[in-house]
Amino acid sequence: MGKEIELKSIFLPFLSTSHIIPLVDVARLFAIHGVDVTIITTPQNATVFQKSVDLDFSRGRPIRTHLVTFPAAEVGLPPGIEAFNVDTPREMVPKIYMGLSILQPRFEQLFHDLQPDFIVTDMFHPWTVEAAAKLRISRIMFHGASYLARSAAHAVEQYAPHLAAKSDSDPIAIPGLPDRLEMTPLQLPDWLRSPNQYTELMKTIKESEKKSYGSVFNSFYDLESAYYEHYKGVMGTKSWGIGPVSLWANQDASDKAARGYAKEDEGEEGWLKWLNTKAERSVLYVSFGSMNKFPYSQLVEIARALEDSGKDFIWVVRKNDKGGEGEKFLEEFEERMKESKKGYLIWGWAPQLLILENPAIGGLVTHCGWNTVVESVNAGLPMVTWPLFAEHFFNEKLVVDVLKIGVSVGAKEWRNWNDFGGEIVKAEDIGNAIGVMMSEKGEDMKRRSKTLSGAAKKAIEDGGSSHNNLNELIRELNQIKLSKAQETAPVP
Ligand code: UDP
Repeated sequence: MGKEIELKSIFLPFLSTSHIIPLVDVARLFAIHGVDVTIITTPQNATVFQKSVDLDFSRGRPIRTHLVTFPAAEVGLPPGIEAFNVDTPREMVPKIYMGLSILQPRFEQLFHDLQPDFIVTDMFHPWTVEAAAKLRISRIMFHGASYLARSAAHAVEQYAPHLAAKSDSDPIAIPGLPDRLEMTPLQLPDWLRSPNQYTELMKTIKESEKKSYGSVFNSFYDLESAYYEHYKGVMGTKSWGIGPVSLWANQDASDKAARGYAKEDEGEEGWLKWLNTKAERSVLYVSFGSMNKFPYSQLVEIARALEDSGKDFIWVVRKNDKGGEGEKFLEEFEERMKESKKGYLIWGWAPQLLILENPAIGGLVTHCGWNTVVESVNAGLPMVTWPLFAEHFFNEKLVVDVLKIGVSVGAKEWRNWNDFGGEIVKAEDIGNAIGVMMSEKGEDMKRRSKTLSGAAKKAIEDGGSSHNNLNELIRELNQIKLSKAQETAPVP
């Protein structure tokens, strides 16, 4: 559809794997719909997705990456450190921000040189709204979160309900939302509890969103329709839910295997072979996303819970204690699990989309990262929820209280993404939640998850809500281009 008038776009992801993955899927969706797509990023960050872009390009889709060198030497960083990821040393974080601010005028120059009709940028590039205004093009903001999370954060900013709580662990209702959602002040992000630098950044982001043409979310109507409507109402902006983007952009196994850092062929002799020996819906998938590293004491509790549960499991785990007690413990645990064939450990990065769609998987233990929530909904799987940072605690509310497809481990305390925090969730609590989800008590959750999975698949089909939303957005952008062309056309 967009092909005839050649809509040209630029996508600018943030410098972080977990933000890059869904926005690149969004970019690929635009290319599937005939829009010319250039993704701008730095070399190291491109390694997260280049295989997917190459695959799409080989299928004749108008998509490419434009690399900009990260100014590592200028900010005193070793080469290759150019992202906010799980292994990024804390002291380097401010320097990466410095690098990003050096890149800003270079990105802006590229917008000027490449002359797109519109840009789609991650929320963490609020300056792009002014850059787009200068070029008289539309800016669309990508939110990596759920509509519920954004609505709840907005309500906390507006009503500050936590200030009326008797203590930090006293549950309070968040006012003004479609459902009664209760959280304790400790479960709220620190920047919402009391103002800090991040509060200011989030304000700037919100202002930039209000000045944008609109926003896109990795969500779909039936997943959180009340919050989709609510959010558009309170923000007064246009927004399009176009998810599940992972399902839509990664239609065959080669796409799923190419996503992220997974090594091809790894499954043949490894996790896939192991998983294929297991009964349908019998295996737990345990993962805490791309940004988390637990301390040794927490890993021990998880290992105990998994072993005691008697369930088979795949656990995606990161070492955090090189050469120490923790490493030895995990190695011995892995050995024991290999012998008993009860558990399979994946170190570092798992091909999550491929694993979740395997019929042997029966449920997740998840940190409630939004992408993982959408991916498990798509796979029709119930969840044990264990929120950690970002907007995870809000997502838990959606999964457990609104959709009723999850059971909580009872995490009590929000923490920063690169912080261990003070809370250690005990093996008993993890085990109890697993027990509920994997037993007959979890039947209703499983049934609801299945129904939602059907809705997810419908959303991206011809006539589905996400399909319609994306077509509508592209139609509007085409219309804007056409009107501009008519404005500037010489009068006959
Ligand atoms: N992911 C993956 N393998 C991993 C870890 C993460 O494929 O080992 C993908 C996952 O499928 C999801 C994204 O990375 O698309 C993680 O995003 P999410 O919002 O769930 O969590 P975050 O990494 O932001 O904490």
